[in-house]
Amino acid sequence: MDPVTIVTGGSRGIGAATARRLAHDGHHVAIGYRRDHTAANAVVADIRATGRRALAVPADTTDPDQIQALFDAATDLGPLTGLVNNAGVTSPIGPFTDLRADDLRHVVDVNLIGYVLCAQHAARRLTRGGAIVNVSSVAATLGSPGEYVHYAAVKAATDTLTIGLAKELAPTGIRVNCVAPGIIRTELHALSGAPDRPDTAAGRIPLGRAGEPDEIAGAIAWLLSPDASYTTGAILRVSGGL
Ligand code: NAP
Repeated sequence: MDPVTIVTGGSRGIGAATARRLAHDGHHVAIGYRRDHTAANAVVADIRATGRRALAVPADTTDPDQIQALFDAATDLGPLTGLVNNAGVTSPIGPFTDLRADDLRHVVDVNLIGYVLCAQHAARRLTRGGAIVNVSSVAATLGSPGEYVHYAAVKAATDTLTIGLAKELAPTGIRVNCVAPGIIRTELHALSGAPDRPDTAAGRIPLGRAGEPDEIAGAIAWLLSPDASYTTGAILRVSGGL
């Protein structure tokens, strides 16, 4: 049976790279996204070009009904075998005292509540051999001082979600893991007001450069694969040494 995987936030950045990588590895892929239809359709076209099945669903993960629609649509691809909880946002980079309550709520809504609700749908549908990968951040352990401490705190909650859910689902044969990227070259940085961050931060990254989305996609694909059959509850840093 071919693997069928949902990737939230699959239209751009790490999610798009992951969707393409999973297709290359033989997965049929359903991507969710929020507003960038053109980018989502391009990812679907690339997946189909590999001979895999693909669909894109506008599914804002802050809306439980849209999450339900994404999981329902994915059944067209076959029985679900995997979820990549990836859709995430930051807010404007800056000191903690400047954080606006609306931005804080949005970061919690997308990066935590959305992840929990998607994981809940997946846990209900996956069977033995299924797997969930949560995309966290090294911010969870570094704290992101002066940038976005609240985002770091929410990513730490994602790590804890991984640890607890891995233990709860282990008896059912469903694995739950986490990839914690370092600074990766995506549009996320421009959206938080620091488009040059992957370059300006290079000096404090032990490997001396920002990562590329494909370098995260490979780790996610491994955690979903049979090669990771004995790996659950892991938080895998892919961060150039950060
Ligand atoms: P990105 O390039 O900004 O892409 C974000 C993706 O999430 C897009 O597909 C976007 O879709 C989607 N999205 C945003 N809000 C959404 C919502 N409410 N509902 C559904 N989809 C939504 O970001 P990225 O850098 O690839 O980040 C992916 C994940 O990696 C996030 O969880 C992020 O926190 C984490 N991460 C990133 C870095 C980094 O340096 N880039 C480092 C550590 C962790 P639309 O375009 O349609 O809005």
